[in-house]
Amino acid sequence: MIRALTLTAAALAASLVAVPAHAADTPPRTGFEESDGARWTSQPEEQDFLAAVDRASSRVSVARIGTTKQDRPLQLVRIGARHAPHARNKVLLVCSQHGDEPSGREACLTTIRDLAYAKDERTRRFLDRTTVLVVPTANPDGRAADTRGNSDGVDINRDHIALKTTEGRTLAAVIRDQRPDVIYDLHEYGATPRYYDKDLFDLWPRNLNTDTAVHDEAETLSQAYVRPAAQGAGYSTGTYGIWTDPVTGEPIRQVAGDGQERILRNMSGIKHSVGLLIESRVEPLTDVAEAVNNRRRVNSQLAALKGLSGFTDERRGRIEAATGKARLEGYADTGPVYVGGADNDPPEPAEVIQDPPCGYRLTPEQYTEVKDELALHGVTTRGTYVPLRQSLRALVPLLLDERAPYHLAAGEPVTDC
Ligand SMILES: [Zn+2]
Repeated sequence: MIRALTLTAAALAASLVAVPAHAADTPPRTGFEESDGARWTSQPEEQDFLAAVDRASSRVSVARIGTTKQDRPLQLVRIGARHAPHARNKVLLVCSQHGDEPSGREACLTTIRDLAYAKDERTRRFLDRTTVLVVPTANPDGRAADTRGNSDGVDINRDHIALKTTEGRTLAAVIRDQRPDVIYDLHEYGATPRYYDKDLFDLWPRNLNTDTAVHDEAETLSQAYVRPAAQGAGYSTGTYGIWTDPVTGEPIRQVAGDGQERILRNMSGIKHSVGLLIESRVEPLTDVAEAVNNRRRVNSQLAALKGLSGFTDERRGRIEAATGKARLEGYADTGPVYVGGADNDPPEPAEVIQDPPCGYRLTPEQYTEVKDELALHGVTTRGTYVPLRQSLRALVPLLLDERAPYHLAAGEPVTDC
């Protein structure tokens, strides 16, 4: 008995020596939490918060991945067990691409902290098998100015083909280098009461170049996980972009949520990630204090995020099978490529490239013009020739075919393979 006690004391002493003093610190709180929702977390507060989490948790690392025009950092936070077993799912959270939609960012910051400090077995197991990547503020200059666009007024969420902005380029590089299984994109929207006013709307990639299994997983994420989790916490949910009849709930009009490839939600599918857009409602529907409404905005996002972690945990095998197979399918180089349409909007004949070329030949000038963007997208080139036979097959015509609405260059189609 005495011997056992001695060993326990020795083990305890050893563990006290091994654990740095700051690990025992109280978890940091965001400016939003400190003010009980009265104001949004400032950028200096965000930096202090992330630095504190990074110092305190061996599961977390924070990397600077870019710098905005106004000299603010773009950061990628990685959360996962330090000694990673072999294959793990990767989930990427992209928070507040639109600077005037702050609640997603608040949900992301507290999620980072809560995953970093969690001691329960379930979260530990989750982090043994999942790497959570977070870009907590995807548009720091826009957040500072409370504007939708960046400091040049460019909407980053329409820049995922052209990659003209630092913010868009940085996100493209993260997606290329990390190849996330899931890309979860947090936004907010303005309500049209009675027709379009749920606490949360979500939407999967509608772009028709999304692999069927990846598309199905994204719909499953929405309908079987995110919406039930949010509803269970008391929040109403619906499909982004669709007005519904206040009485029957039937869809009556589509106002947003198309299939265009410039949007991250759609680009996620084209790049073989299970994408989901989530939008919390900005306005209160009843007369409540601003802080109360702000807390609803953030808490609804947090409730939806629980659905995302449930999805990742329960379906990890199916998710990996879908994204893994989709990443290989381009090498078979078969099937049409769509330059228009959506999963709820059949393409016109002119929007279907039924028999795509083997590739596109660029002039030296065109190549010089677009080579950096091709590289950021992760498109493989052979000199000035860009073959379709590659993982990102459908992206090649979207970038280089003159029929694609947002093409970067009109390459010469090569049909003689
Ligand atoms: Zn938005």
